[in-house]
Amino acid sequence: MIIDLRSDTVTKPTAAMMQAILNAEVGDDVYKEDPTVNLLEQRIANMFGMETALYFPTGSMANQAAIKLHTQPGEQLICDKYAHVYNYEGGGVSFNSGVSSKLIDGDRGMITAQQVEENINPPDFYHSPLTTLVCLENTTNKGGGACYSLDTFKEIKSITDEHQLGLHLDGARLWNALVATGQNPKEYGEIFDTISVCLSKGLGAPMGTVLVGNNEIMKNAIRVRKVLGGGMRQVGFMAAAGLYALDHHFPLLHEDHKRAQELAVALSQMAIVTHVEPVETNIVIFNVSDVNSFIKYLNNHQIIYSDMGQGKLRLVTHYDYTAKMHEQMLAVLRKF
Ligand SMILES: *Cc1c(COP(=O)(O)O)cnc(C)c1O
Repeated sequence: MIIDLRSDTVTKPTAAMMQAILNAEVGDDVYKEDPTVNLLEQRIANMFGMETALYFPTGSMANQAAIKLHTQPGEQLICDKYAHVYNYEGGGVSFNSGVSSKLIDGDRGMITAQQVEENINPPDFYHSPLTTLVCLENTTNKGGGACYSLDTFKEIKSITDEHQLGLHLDGARLWNALVATGQNPKEYGEIFDTISVCLSKGLGAPMGTVLVGNNEIMKNAIRVRKVLGGGMRQVGFMAAAGLYALDHHFPLLHEDHKRAQELAVALSQMAIVTHVEPVETNIVIFNVSDVNSFIKYLNNHQIIYSDMGQGKLRLVTHYDYTAKMHEQMLAVLRKF
């Protein structure tokens, strides 16, 4: 039995999800005539109390579009040094928007209002790029699935309001944060100008991210999506998978979190494991003293992980990581 814990993106549609895909009513979404895409957009906009939403093929494209909506070339955004928009979107911030990134040395991918304020360039001083946007991430991916408190978001919002900066949330993993903290998505809608939420991570759909915001900031979103090549036709088949995932997989995310916790406990009891980062959601990041022998052991037991370099490994639990696999995984760790 292969146990793939590289990422929560490795899930495949279940038979029931496939049925939902087959039964979807579709149309040409470039004309905004796909009823299933429209339904998904409306549903997610309502969840966050936002006026409008737009379906994108990937999280990267949704984030990049949001950055374009908030900025002009030559400007600067502020984000944590671990931010997905900076590290894992192919340099899109500079390629797509001509914008530079001011990186903050945060805590597990999370930054504070004070750090934001300290990193805003003085607006009257034309030597430095104009700061116009703050990008936050929740949960943080490279930060090990850590969750922000709403209070921190509110403090940051008061700084971005004061300085008239845009505030975008990369919420690719926001579903996990909502489940772990019990926070209300409507509160997010009140704090952020734009939010991207991903359907193909923990929720287990094959693709899709929805960007939400109010009409004013979103008015050019469909044009930017077209420019980036993301205008799709009968994509309601995939939106149907997203709707199915919201109904049937979203309520089960706490299972992934519980299993991640149990993995963290098992790892922390191993002599070879020198450090396990706090686990709040479905990501477990840990360090081992002898990475080669540990990796060999995992390989021998057909366990697939992510190697983050410098003795740091990552395991991510997900819908296709079953109770049976979990039992086997714990047994393998215990007998190392
Ligand atoms: C996965 C992820 C994305 C988007 O990734 P895509 O592969 O482009 O869909 C964006 N931000 C974070 C934090 C992620 O984990």
